[in-house]
Amino acid sequence: MKIKLGCIADDFTGATDLANNLVRSGMRVVQTIGVPTAPLAADVDAVVVALKSRTIPAAEAIAQSLDALKWLQAQGAQHIYFKYCSTFDSTPEGNIGPVTEALMDALDTDFTIATPAFPDNGRNVFKGYLFAGNVLLNESGMQNHPLTPMQDANLVRVMQAQTQRPVGLIDYKTVAQGETAIRERIAALRAEGVGVAVVDATSNEDLHRLGPALKDMPLVTAGSGVAIGLPANFGLTPSLQASQLPAARGLQAVISGSCSLATNAQVAHFKASGRPAWAIAPASLMHGNTHAVVQQVLAWAAPLLQSGPVLVYSTAEPEAVKAVQTQLGVAEAGALVEQALAAVARGLVDQGVQQLVVAGGETSGACVQALGIAQLQIGPQIDPGVPWCHAPSDTGGVHITLKSGNFGTEDFFSKAFTVLA
Ligand code: ADP
Repeated sequence: MKIKLGCIADDFTGATDLANNLVRSGMRVVQTIGVPTAPLAADVDAVVVALKSRTIPAAEAIAQSLDALKWLQAQGAQHIYFKYCSTFDSTPEGNIGPVTEALMDALDTDFTIATPAFPDNGRNVFKGYLFAGNVLLNESGMQNHPLTPMQDANLVRVMQAQTQRPVGLIDYKTVAQGETAIRERIAALRAEGVGVAVVDATSNEDLHRLGPALKDMPLVTAGSGVAIGLPANFGLTPSLQASQLPAARGLQAVISGSCSLATNAQVAHFKASGRPAWAIAPASLMHGNTHAVVQQVLAWAAPLLQSGPVLVYSTAEPEAVKAVQTQLGVAEAGALVEQALAAVARGLVDQGVQQLVVAGGETSGACVQALGIAQLQIGPQIDPGVPWCHAPSDTGGVHITLKSGNFGTEDFFSKAFTVLA
């Protein structure tokens, strides 16, 4: 079984976001957690290999990405998509530039594009400048990001600072004229010796015009937006079939370790609807108490699960989180809570839960690991950027959705199960 498109994503929830866009445009997609050690078993159009390489040293990010490339090529992929964040999270050391150039070398190609444009999510590129919502990237709060502060919205400059090859621009006027004009511009840039071109896009139409011009390109680098214009290059059109998962069965539960604004509202909404909920206080996990707390939660949940979804959460308002972090330390508090929630997820699945909603990026990573999940088949979208997934297993498998912090409507925790039914 040969795949059509091989994707390498620099983080976990970003991988799901890309997979979701590909599925909605007609591709059957599997997401793998890290580089698989065995050949792909599923019959799909695309695979997204999820790495955690956004902020690790550039040399390591390159090594992991090249590993992923090798595996994808072994599955038949002739086209490679390197996916990064739609806010272009990187530093002058990388990792977007170095990984892009390493992939270009490995694929023996002298040209690729770079654009984080994702208009549906408010990420627009105009004259090479990235807007997040209504403001420039460096006014969006991203200028203060703890790991990848983005202090320049001009992506040609940002990309040039981390790239050996000359960086150019395919601007909105060219994109507006469509495939032929874009191809001519690419040829002109190539003749000038430009190796990477930032591409303007401020609408889905722009992305659909860009797609056909990328048909023969061995490597595309982008956020998840460009994905909506690619499946058509392989003769695929949006279909319900692409997002089909095995029928849902088993008990239902929600695990929430995200403290984002949206998640706090979602927890409040679920509780207000009268569904059972258990709050885990981080301080109760201290002094090796995690196991005892997890057992208590599982005993509480067992009889309730029969009559509908239960929620187990550590989600708290910012002041409460700050207080706990002062008491335990930021990393220690995070690790304690992640460990406990992951153990609860494992225990609930052992009790027969086969439909699981997880809220929080890091929390998702911990839960997926505790459940031993290596591959996810991507299914229907619940809210923008958040699809249901299915992880196969000998015991029938688990339907799971991984919601990063600020995604999803207020009723997400109950709506998700309705979408699956
Ligand atoms: P998000 O996607 O909203 O950023 P994450 O799961 O990625 O959510 O991050 C939330 C982090 O906060 C996790 O490390 C989690 O363990 C930690 N955490 C969760 N609840 C609490 C709490 N009540 N106090 C302190 N830290 C918490």
